[in-house]
Amino acid sequence: MSKQYEHYDTDRIRAISISEVARRLGDHVRKVGVSHVTYCPWHDDEHPSLSLVESKGKNYCHCFACDKGGDVIAYAMQHEQWTFQEACQWLSQTFGICTVQSYYPRPKPRPVVKPKEPTYTYIPMEMVDGLASAESSLCQCLMRMFHPEAVEWLTEEYRLGCYSLYGQDDYTVFPNIDAQGRVCNLKVQHYDADPTSDRFAHSDGKTYWLGKIWANEGRLPKDAQFKHRCLFGEHLLTRYPQCTVALVESPKNALFGALAYPEMVWVATGNKTAIGPDELKPLQGRDVIVIPDRDAISDWKAKVSSMAWLANFTVSDFCEEAAADDQPKFDIADYLQQQLWPKPD
Ligand SMILES: [Zn+2]
Repeated sequence: MSKQYEHYDTDRIRAISISEVARRLGDHVRKVGVSHVTYCPWHDDEHPSLSLVESKGKNYCHCFACDKGGDVIAYAMQHEQWTFQEACQWLSQTFGICTVQSYYPRPKPRPVVKPKEPTYTYIPMEMVDGLASAESSLCQCLMRMFHPEAVEWLTEEYRLGCYSLYGQDDYTVFPNIDAQGRVCNLKVQHYDADPTSDRFAHSDGKTYWLGKIWANEGRLPKDAQFKHRCLFGEHLLTRYPQCTVALVESPKNALFGALAYPEMVWVATGNKTAIGPDELKPLQGRDVIVIPDRDAISDWKAKVSSMAWLANFTVSDFCEEAAADDQPKFDIADYLQQQLWPKPD
């Protein structure tokens, strides 16, 4: 059987000891405590500033001088100015890791030590469908700016819902459905829909998670653990494998974006901090345009520079260019509201 392409066993490549990789690339490696240090390939390093972390199942490098770093592949790429393919090829050959072509018969696999995943509870899709609705204040406002049928389409794509809390019946439900189609959790937020204000979609900032609420009510197991590493809209990546991906911070921004630019798949991190390769893994190999809120553009530029091995990232300055001086947190939803919110006659 002939193969058309070479496929690298990236899980096993990423499990190769990073200090061993540094040694094989000819760098001097010094042990400091439980870590090792060596010279940083991302900057002109005169003193070894790159920490190689291997304890407790971890395996990555991080530079304390320039704040860059990454996994074994990112390190080798930067060290030798290799492409992703070249780095994988060298690492596979040097450390005896088979590519798909030579998998069968596969030699005895070396055990890969992986941290054990907790057993997550996934929420039955019927419970999500039970809330399906475009009656939330957010969807109702979107209908004032976009065609109601487009908002209905959006509601189905993202399986948005409506929920009642504290006597208010128009909270928005944002399901987090992963690439395997499993419902990880449902985020609930309220948006102020005062049509006289020039920025209608103010959240009161409070976030509720239905997984926990339902566990407390006995509708899900009391000891349920929910997977929190899931992008909002992640399930759509599987449905549209060829589309360019637009990555934003808040689910609200993803919804505005999807209505205005439906040719891209819009996903949201839902979180400002702690976004790394684990959370972004579903984007592997994709063309990704990151559209950060204005106050997060430089953070994202630094972040993706160490993750070039994961996807073809471009960070957009759009929210810097479109914002007025007094709008430090300007985002794409703000922009679209400026353009589309009905002006008083
Ligand atoms: Zn450095």
